[in-house]
Amino acid sequence: MAKVMAEVGCVFLVGAGPGDPDLITLRGAKMLGRADVVFYDELATNELLDLVPDRAELINVGKRGHDEPTRSQEEINALLIEHAKAGRTVVRLKGGDPLVFGRGGEEMSLCAAAGVPFEIVPGVTSAVAALSYAGIPVTDRRYSASFAVVTGHKDPSRVSEQTRWGELGRAVDTLVILMGMRNLPRLVDELIAGGKSPDTPAAAVMHGTLPEQQTCISTLARLPEDAKRAGISAPAVVVVGDVVLLREGLSWWERKPLFGRKVLVTRASQQAVELAAALRSVGAAPVLEPMIEFAPIEDPEGRAKIASAIAHLDRTQTIVFTSSNAVRFFSRALEADGSLPAGRLAEIRTFCVGERTAQAALAAGFPVHVVATGRSDAEALLGQLLQALPTGGERVLIPGSQIARTIIADGLRGAGAQVDAVAFYENRRPRIDVAGLRDRLVRGELFALTFTSPSTVDHFMDCLDDESREAAGQCMIAAIGRTTATALERVGLPPTVVPKRPDVSLMVEELVAAASR
Ligand code: SAH
Repeated sequence: MAKVMAEVGCVFLVGAGPGDPDLITLRGAKMLGRADVVFYDELATNELLDLVPDRAELINVGKRGHDEPTRSQEEINALLIEHAKAGRTVVRLKGGDPLVFGRGGEEMSLCAAAGVPFEIVPGVTSAVAALSYAGIPVTDRRYSASFAVVTGHKDPSRVSEQTRWGELGRAVDTLVILMGMRNLPRLVDELIAGGKSPDTPAAAVMHGTLPEQQTCISTLARLPEDAKRAGISAPAVVVVGDVVLLREGLSWWERKPLFGRKVLVTRASQQAVELAAALRSVGAAPVLEPMIEFAPIEDPEGRAKIASAIAHLDRTQTIVFTSSNAVRFFSRALEADGSLPAGRLAEIRTFCVGERTAQAALAAGFPVHVVATGRSDAEALLGQLLQALPTGGERVLIPGSQIARTIIADGLRGAGAQVDAVAFYENRRPRIDVAGLRDRLVRGELFALTFTSPSTVDHFMDCLDDESREAAGQCMIAAIGRTTATALERVGLPPTVVPKRPDVSLMVEELVAAASR
């Protein structure tokens, strides 16, 4: 067998942003979508990892369990180089900006030395963003013309003696300290000893840009004690300077209508991203507990049907995608099968139900011909499809799940088409931390519960006991559409909110409106 030398891949050092997953850059998100392997540290949220393709490997190189040693920097460097040399696209994801106290520079120096190509994708640093979200401008013509970002913790074993705190305090208007919580009393002493007024306004912002954000406003001298009393610990940004006075009028994030409120998201994890983002945008903290998951068909009979559908593609004129899952699992099966001649797909007409499905199909390389939008009931969609479909014995493939509804398939058959409705994936119930979920409900931690399909309702109900079921009834409940609302009514949890159109942003808007009533 001829052995082909793998081309060397590339390492992308990507800034993940300060916490809110929406604050990654467009380029960073694109690179995650192209990764073969992603090395990440402990992240504020794991939602960014949903941008990584299913086939990619995810490697947590941050803190691990108590008895496992943390990977040394040398180990991480060696892994990055090894994977890149195997021809893979490697993403090294780091919080904030990767070159602000992230050791990203060291990792890239080693890539350079090893002849491994690399690129750097900057990120939004917490040094600035956590302050923005607290309503504290890092500079402002009225108060500050300069800022410095300093580590309070250069070497984990000691306060950095080299940092000239006194000079910094005198020379810079706004002082931003990262990793400063542990040594805060000492840092404050040094600044005051260096001539900074003990009355200088100062603040600490914990979990900046997240729904858990907490801000403590104080003065330099009192900050260590005030922050401690307020329960502020790492990760937090400390800021010293008159700009802190501006917060009063500018605190916008902590005044969001659902700020800090926990909202349960039962949707499958691949589809939860958008709902989670909509919740975050109103300040809520999404609690992701997927009640459904999708998996490829495993049983031999089902696999044989898939193989036969793919084999028949050369005689298939039309594909109808009814969801982005259908696109995802169909593409995966095609890729695994590998027998479809290049160019053949371009000859198959592709119908998509809904914009999102169309976006997924375009991204997967299908030539999308018709997008059925608007009202989303199956009958209306069928009408649109029938209008676009040429008459005569068309062969139509509808890839779907094992519980797909049959209205569209039946309607097309009725109009004379030869329809193959084939299950390319199945809906399953993921394992749930039942005790944890019941606990959250009973303690009244969850402000609202959201449901996006009857199967999520059924599984949720099966997880509860009497006490937690009663507690669930005290929460606000949102259903994405009529079908889900009916399922909720049937189990005795009538929804507070059902948007006019089945749209997650609209559902969140109505949740906000209901909360303010
Ligand atoms: N490269 C990162 C900083 C890494 S050092 C960046 O550019 O943001 C880690 C320190 O960053 C933490 O100790 C804390 O001081 C700060 N930090 C990171 N995320 C934060 C957040 N969401 N809120 C407040 N501080 C944060």
